[in-house]
Amino acid sequence: MTEPILRLANIESSYGPVRAIRGVSLEVRPGSIVAVLGNNGAGKSTILKTISGILDPDKGQVFFEGRPINGKPADWIVRQGIGHVPEGREVFPLLTVHENLLMGAYTRKDRDAVHRDLERMYGYFPILAEKRNQEALALSGGQQQMLALSRALMCRPRLLLLDEPSLGLSPKLVKEIFEIIVRVNGEEGTTMLLVEQNASIALKSAHFGYVLEVGRIVLEDTTQRLLEKQDVKEFLLGVKSDGARDDRRWKKKKQWR
Ligand code: ATP
Repeated sequence: MTEPILRLANIESSYGPVRAIRGVSLEVRPGSIVAVLGNNGAGKSTILKTISGILDPDKGQVFFEGRPINGKPADWIVRQGIGHVPEGREVFPLLTVHENLLMGAYTRKDRDAVHRDLERMYGYFPILAEKRNQEALALSGGQQQMLALSRALMCRPRLLLLDEPSLGLSPKLVKEIFEIIVRVNGEEGTTMLLVEQNASIALKSAHFGYVLEVGRIVLEDTTQRLLEKQDVKEFLLGVKSDGARDDRRWKKKKQWR
């Protein structure tokens, strides 16, 4: 089996006295999409912040392409080939769409390839091409998510971390964003680790999934197998055994099997 591009070994990370993740171990294989699923406050964003160097773990190690990277500065980690689209998008509001995309390529010297990549992003998201000279501030939430994703892709990451790409978007836009995520992964082989509360779209798009509950991984498997598990249907997708919807799923206490 191929070596993982990313491996977390027994990671614990805190905010002051608040222990947000507790002994998290996970792996991401090259070329795959891996999803970490969990409800509000489960620790999903903390996992991504720990990988990208925004947060130093108290314990454990993060290995990227076999080398430990925890404790290194965030800008060094970006230069190793790890892109991060944080929750809430964080585009540069006063820069135009075009300038935002160029900022994504600031570490690159290959101007011709950067130009080709710009056109590729406009191909993925034609609305960004239409609005290329407008300030990012003027974009809708969905368009800002498209811009944040495209900007991260402009640095040609070998691993892309995506924090809740579906957050605050209409079902139609969620579908559109995830179609592009799957397309980029398929066409360019970009490895992705995404964290999501929207388990349904994440399980349909990813190859492998981890379920996180109060800072711990409680279940892991291929998404195909996760989708077949009754527990997952009930507690992540809100579908009862008789097929009815159950929206109280996260409120129940659950022993994952
Ligand atoms: P959400 O989708 O709501 O962001 P999440 O699964 O990504 O949820 P995290 O943001 O990783 O969860 O938060 C994990 C825990 O850490 C929560 O209990 C949260 O309240 C706490 N936490 C997150 N950020 C901070 C912070 N800056 N200071 C203190 N506690 C924090």
